[in-house]
Amino acid sequence: MIRFGQTCAEIAARPGKLEKVAVLASYLRTLDDAALPCAARYFTGNPFAARDERSLGIGWRTIVEAAKRAWDVPEGALAAAYREHGDLGASLGPFVRPAMDLALFSETLDPVTLYALFEQIAAASGKAAGRKREALCERILSACTDPVEATYVIKIMTGDLRIGLREGLIVDAIASAFECDAHAVRRAFMAAGDIGTVAVAARRGTLDAMRVAYGAPIGFMLATPVTYGSEYKDLQSGTWIAEEKFDGIRAQLHKTGTSVRLFSRTLNDITDSYPEVAEAAAQIPGDFMLDGEIVAQRGDRVLPFRYLQARLQRKTIDGGLLEEIPVAYMVFDILAAGDAFLIDEPLVVRREQLAGAIQSSGQVRIAPFTPLAEPPVAEELHALFDAARAAGHEGVMLKRTDSPYHPGRRGKWWLKLKRELSTLDVVVIAVEWGHGKRAKVLSDYTFAVRGHDGEPLAIGKAYSGLTDAEIAELTPWFLEHRTHQQRERARGSEIPVEPKIVLEVAFDIIQPSELHESGFSLRFPRIVRIRDDKPPSEIDTIDRVREIYEEMLEREGLG
Ligand code: AMP
Repeated sequence: MIRFGQTCAEIAARPGKLEKVAVLASYLRTLDDAALPCAARYFTGNPFAARDERSLGIGWRTIVEAAKRAWDVPEGALAAAYREHGDLGASLGPFVRPAMDLALFSETLDPVTLYALFEQIAAASGKAAGRKREALCERILSACTDPVEATYVIKIMTGDLRIGLREGLIVDAIASAFECDAHAVRRAFMAAGDIGTVAVAARRGTLDAMRVAYGAPIGFMLATPVTYGSEYKDLQSGTWIAEEKFDGIRAQLHKTGTSVRLFSRTLNDITDSYPEVAEAAAQIPGDFMLDGEIVAQRGDRVLPFRYLQARLQRKTIDGGLLEEIPVAYMVFDILAAGDAFLIDEPLVVRREQLAGAIQSSGQVRIAPFTPLAEPPVAEELHALFDAARAAGHEGVMLKRTDSPYHPGRRGKWWLKLKRELSTLDVVVIAVEWGHGKRAKVLSDYTFAVRGHDGEPLAIGKAYSGLTDAEIAELTPWFLEHRTHQQRERARGSEIPVEPKIVLEVAFDIIQPSELHESGFSLRFPRIVRIRDDKPPSEIDTIDRVREIYEEMLEREGLG
């Protein structure tokens, strides 16, 4: 794996995409048919193929313990290195030394032997699984003889190479290495869910023969927010349709034969949580891959998201829960039908295919859509939005009829029309060190509203919204203004700070919650800006939170 590591380091050092692609392509070209699929997968930062559900099941601790045993890494030096890099691979790699156990040292790592060891780690089960994994992990590290090799082998194990190589560039590199069309490579990858087999097919010229891999979830296409009442510039060209924006859980449904599986937005298998959806889909003839949203629904009434949360928190779903919180799967897209992979077809065609492939039945329903005027007019959009809200939906999605399905991308083909609930002005009461790129800054903020006696009452945590520069500037301030006043419900890694920094936060929904002292929590809180102009004494109060919550219930017809 030394050459793999060196290639990664070289790719990381090249700023330009084309250069990165060229370095990767020339490395891939040198690999034989056994090593090529393994190495291609590793470049995605994964030990296994995307469609492969196996995972190593080892955490940070296991790797650190294995490194300590293999290389005798001193704890203090490791902590310092981690603080510097914020990345386990880069921190541990330089500690490589000849393994103490000579029997282990005799092994050499190449992509294929490493893959076999990864497979053994993933297969470890039973009581001693933890120890087995640790031993295998130690074996892998002991076989590394070079710091760069060790760095990148560890990065594969932690699932993040950080060499600026997005999936698209790997696809380009495969196309360039084996002189084929990048589009064909991408398409085959979508169908097969494994960049490794695609790389081999590209070399053999058999990309066209790749079949749709049912059971391998593909990334979800995402939407860009557009503000209600704005100029709607993005809608001025093309033909658009509107769909309701369902307030539920995104799910991809794969059906082949009688087998049905549902995958979440994070590509986890969630079939067991929604057995009634799987049963209803199993009744529909044919093989297909659908995209849609699972919503809580009683009769014709769509229930707000928090009802669905009760289902989400359970591993086993009993009959009582099925009756109490019935769900429906609202299907708005089709990605494959039979052997045909449809993601490159325009949305209008996919909608036709969807209508041809399935009929609404029981818990599986085709989501209705409304064609819009060309270009859409504001009144029409607002009327649809209000009607959607009145029916219990979150808002409206606007989709361009000629849009292909872009897996994993947030583009201007799909827009979500949103009207923000009012924002809250809050004060930061505790901070935490971030992760990854943000390991050296205090980037996670716990914030509070004012209680009746002026005391801060925590209501949420925000990780997003501020720029890197703002976070970097605030970090020393927070460090200087630490307090020793512990909060009752503070978590271990929280550092309490003086309640001075006022932020404006936006959010989607307020919900009652035991989690925070205020008795409420915010869904999707994001920082809009720092309110330097506002003293902490003027932040929003718990009464204002209650007011917004009640207005929300009233709007939903639940007040
Ligand atoms: P957001 O979570 O605010 O980024 O909005 C995007 C999410 O809206 C998607 O991931 C889906 O879960 C959800 N959604 C609800 N209705 C639709 C729809 N008709 N089309 C696409 N996504 C939808």
